Amino acid sequence: MKTKFIFVTGGVVSSLGKGIAAASIGATLESRGLKLTILKLDPYINVDPGTMNPLQHGEVFVTEDGYEADLDLGHYERYTNVITTRDSNFTTGQIYNTVIQKERRGEYLGKTVQVIPHITDQIKENIYKAAEGFDVALVEIGGTVGDIESLPFLEAIRQISHDLERHQTMFIHLTLIPWIAAAEELKTKPTQHSVNKLREIGIQPDILICRTDRPLDEELRRKIALFTNVAYDSVIEAQDVECVYAVPLNFHKEGLDSRVVEHLQLWAKRPNLQIWADIVDSYMNPKDEVTIGIIGKYTDLKDSYKSLNEALIHAGIALNLKVNLHYVDSEKLHDTGDTSDWAKCDGFLIPGGFGKRGIKGKIDSIQYARENKIPFFGICLGLQVAILEYAQNVLGIKNADSTEFNPSTTENIIDMMAEQKEVKNLGGTMRLGAFKATLQKDSMAAKIYGKEEISERHRHRWEVNNKYISALEEGGLKISGKNKDLDLVEVIELEDHPWFLAVQYHPEFKSKPIAPHPLFQSFVEAAYQNKGKKS
Ligand code: GLN
Repeated sequence: MKTKFIFVTGGVVSSLGKGIAAASIGATLESRGLKLTILKLDPYINVDPGTMNPLQHGEVFVTEDGYEADLDLGHYERYTNVITTRDSNFTTGQIYNTVIQKERRGEYLGKTVQVIPHITDQIKENIYKAAEGFDVALVEIGGTVGDIESLPFLEAIRQISHDLERHQTMFIHLTLIPWIAAAEELKTKPTQHSVNKLREIGIQPDILICRTDRPLDEELRRKIALFTNVAYDSVIEAQDVECVYAVPLNFHKEGLDSRVVEHLQLWAKRPNLQIWADIVDSYMNPKDEVTIGIIGKYTDLKDSYKSLNEALIHAGIALNLKVNLHYVDSEKLHDTGDTSDWAKCDGFLIPGGFGKRGIKGKIDSIQYARENKIPFFGICLGLQVAILEYAQNVLGIKNADSTEFNPSTTENIIDMMAEQKEVKNLGGTMRLGAFKATLQKDSMAAKIYGKEEISERHRHRWEVNNKYISALEEGGLKISGKNKDLDLVEVIELEDHPWFLAVQYHPEFKSKPIAPHPLFQSFVEAAYQNKGKKS
């Protein structure tokens, strides 16, 4: 079967949830037994989002093969069985990079290199390459229709629909139907304009997904359909939801997946979305709640810890608990000495992070969790800081430090590996992607995973310095997981504590509502038990 293409664009405003929409369309199609992949095309010039500030752009998602990707790839993996790779996400910067390198090598044979056809051809080549072998390739175009930056991408997908057969491609446009309070009316004009913009460049959407805060009545749907030249039953309502995992169900109720398989003439089995109904049911009807303190630096923009937040929510869904995420700014905590947030949290989590800011507040918090037997989960930087806390406060190495925070420290318990010291560029040069680790038999980690050989995704430059391992172990810290090939510490834990564990990798990238990550589930369960003890 030839691969079919679904292009997803967005109009009117950004932040309409295009990533979740694309992922949810994917979920409905997978429920019909179709094999799919999902791509994200980003119009910005950065070669990848790896060096972008998470406060501006949200989290950097890491793929199995070690690509630093847009956070939408995280949505794709959470909603579907798609395993994204470096081919699943590319930017204008990457496309230009490739084209300029080809030009330098003389591959254009002296021709004038232009946006059309050279840039658009490169975009098409990348899309085709990533789509190979799948029934359906969903392609999400970043940005909003009307932006200058996204034009070459829109032109490229228009050409794809022209190059391929009629039923091989389709366009889905996500738009907003705002409620204007003064008129007490839902307004369709922005949608009309945004579809007009698309049609100016030769793209007629086949389906409209209309974000709205209230139901669309028949009259309004007819009006939208008429003005945008979309079939009446292809105007899909997407009302705001309390649980993001309800979106596949809502799309299905609106008939979205039926319209897709009809249009693309896909042979597919009957959809079964029961698993999503169960997830939403557990989320909406929790038996109790638990509060997790996330002690970090980027606490202003919740999207900077997107996968982490979702992983905690998945654990809650599995345990039928509402998980309250309580963000604690570690810098403020240390500077003001106001530690009142500690008492509000049933478990402490220190997520990944970079740089020196806020480290002292993290160390104080870990000490409190360790001494007061509060469940503690450290992730990446969280492991490194937990080691520093242990070295300083238990082993008495007062100057224990990381060369990330203090390059001239004499107690470099956290240090860079030799090959990382050679690296000069910041982009794409960390220890990235999936690596194996071996867990110690009978350790808490091995019990939680239910196995001793694991593979998890990494994104860091610093490591535990092996010179200190015997001192740490003699001092009572258990090194329960190691990468044997590279001889690196992966997991640490404490025995005389109900739940104290930290990992050098990012388990949150592999958690899904359908398959919550065991470490998050076990941690949230321990936090809930701790809550029971407190009350
Ligand atoms: N800054 C630390 C390092 O590079 C931790 C990185 C992280 O938490 N992802 O090693």
